[in-house]
Amino acid sequence: MPSSKRDYYEVLGVERGASADEIKKAYRKLALQFHPDRNPGDAAAEESFKEATQAYEILRDGEKRSRYDQFGHSGVDPSMGGGHGDFGGFDISDALRAFMRDFGGFGNFEFGGTSRGGSSGPRRGQDLQIQLKLTLEEVATGVERTLRVKVLSPCGTCGGSGAKPGTSSDTCQTCGGQGQVRQVQRSILGQFVNIAECPDCHGDGTILRDRCSDCRGEGRKETTESIKVRIPAGVTSGNYIPLRGKGNVGMRGGPRGDIIVLIEEIEHAHLERHGDDVLSEIDISFDQAVLGGSVQVATLDGKVKMNIPAGTPSGKIFRLRGKGIPHLRGSGSGDQLVRVHIHVPKKLNKEARRILEEVRGNDSFRPPGKS
Ligand SMILES: [Zn+2]
Ligand SMILES: [Zn+2]
Repeated sequence: MPSSKRDYYEVLGVERGASADEIKKAYRKLALQFHPDRNPGDAAAEESFKEATQAYEILRDGEKRSRYDQFGHSGVDPSMGGGHGDFGGFDISDALRAFMRDFGGFGNFEFGGTSRGGSSGPRRGQDLQIQLKLTLEEVATGVERTLRVKVLSPCGTCGGSGAKPGTSSDTCQTCGGQGQVRQVQRSILGQFVNIAECPDCHGDGTILRDRCSDCRGEGRKETTESIKVRIPAGVTSGNYIPLRGKGNVGMRGGPRGDIIVLIEEIEHAHLERHGDDVLSEIDISFDQAVLGGSVQVATLDGKVKMNIPAGTPSGKIFRLRGKGIPHLRGSGSGDQLVRVHIHVPKKLNKEARRILEEVRGNDSFRPPGKS
């Protein structure tokens, strides 16, 4: 595998805004060109086939595509906590399987009976997506939450097997326990062997003699579980935390899927987020603007004193360094930007009026260039 991965859109030769249909068409064209069956013994073609398929697997999936758009390869690479582990070792059999799923059988190949989990035996349960709303203060500090999640867990009565207690299951006669059957088919490129899920045991390789009455043979039941999740400081809407192996358990003893905790940020009443900076607005008095002074500014971690230098114009933006959101990657934090507005009073008491009448017409108060 090349050390630096090419951009997936570039691999498929499509625009970033390409529709699902365009992506599928572009992939199909490349896959047919580089398919190992058309290029026997050609390692470079196999590599291109794999690369195109991997790109297709990300871009065909709306969720993965948006993660890729946001975070690039690191957003979908499992080593960065982005994927579901499905591309941990994306090999040629994965690529062929993916191609077959969407475009049907093609070529004289057979692939993994039992070499990779999932192709036979109990299937993995589904992933669950949970939305977690966080305030900007929580985003700034990071939080730990306990989520109450409805999830499919192994049935206590049958221990997850789906078999009625005291009974056992038989090896499926149709597939001999493999969970898959081979079908010889003909295609434009000749005869090939297609591997399909066994129609009798649906991939389990076994047939129940008697079903567990508690779970009706599924081997799983809905439970409510408390799951702890730690959210690091600096996240933003659209970020997600994968909790591996915490999702639904598969049917009849299949491994658990993941829980994907999707972050949603609640809008703040006074602070506007711009990347890792936050912007706030404050009113200062006329005399503070002219003569200078100090004001209290609310930040994400309490109030701080901010100096207003003499001669501050309305609309000026001050920067409070490090008072923004911590950077999710790397160290340090963004800043808080404070835009000041000069408060112009509508009512004046007698003394204020007298003072201002006195300075009315004074040259110091005239905008430059005006008389
Ligand atoms: Zn059961
Ligand atoms: Zn079977």
